[in-house]
Amino acid sequence: MKQENIKIRNYDNGEGDGNVGYFGGLSRAIRSLATGLKTTMREFFTPKITEQYPENRKTLKMFDRFRGTLTMYHDENNNHRCVACGLCQAACPNDTIKVVSETVTTEDGKKKRVLARYEYNLGSCIFCQLCVNACPHDAIGFDQVFEHAVFDRSKLVLQLNRPGSKVIEKPAAKPAAEKPAAKPAEKPVAKAGEKPTEANVK
Ligand code: SF4
Ligand code: SF4
Repeated sequence: MKQENIKIRNYDNGEGDGNVGYFGGLSRAIRSLATGLKTTMREFFTPKITEQYPENRKTLKMFDRFRGTLTMYHDENNNHRCVACGLCQAACPNDTIKVVSETVTTEDGKKKRVLARYEYNLGSCIFCQLCVNACPHDAIGFDQVFEHAVFDRSKLVLQLNRPGSKVIEKPAAKPAAEKPAAKPAEKPVAKAGEKPTEANVK
């Protein structure tokens, strides 16, 4: 029967080198411990950035770019800027937005599409902000509200346009001002000694 040549290595020091010995291993262990302790001491004296939430709920300030909840901006007269174009709904990869519009007749008899209901399902939003980027009127954006926990999922479906709100009306376009009549070009008069031509004879 063929004898297999088997090498047995000593892995005591973790590197397969059995020649380090007791004091070499001890030295490595102490250096490793010192490295860990150095990190511990550095972090111990570094100013803390941990937020004591929820104790600091009233003073908590999120980063400016934090995306909390999608919101529709309204002014003090309860007007928004959404024209119900549906671009945000088309841009959303998760079918989170539903824009419901209706057609109304304006005072001058024209038909106009207006927003009836802007539905946002917070439960399926991935906070990618594609909807905000797609909106040509800056009608929507993210606020910093992040406490979203509810017991009923249906409460995550929010209506973003406030009751009774309407779209900000654009100021009526001014009628084009009448152009002043062009002055007839004066013909140059021939000076004394100048040869009269068709252009300078009155
Ligand atoms: S942030 Fe993204 S997922 Fe959420 S509503 Fe906007 S487009 Fe949809
Ligand atoms: S929020 Fe903006 S993109 Fe979405 S329907 Fe309104 S105007 Fe269009």
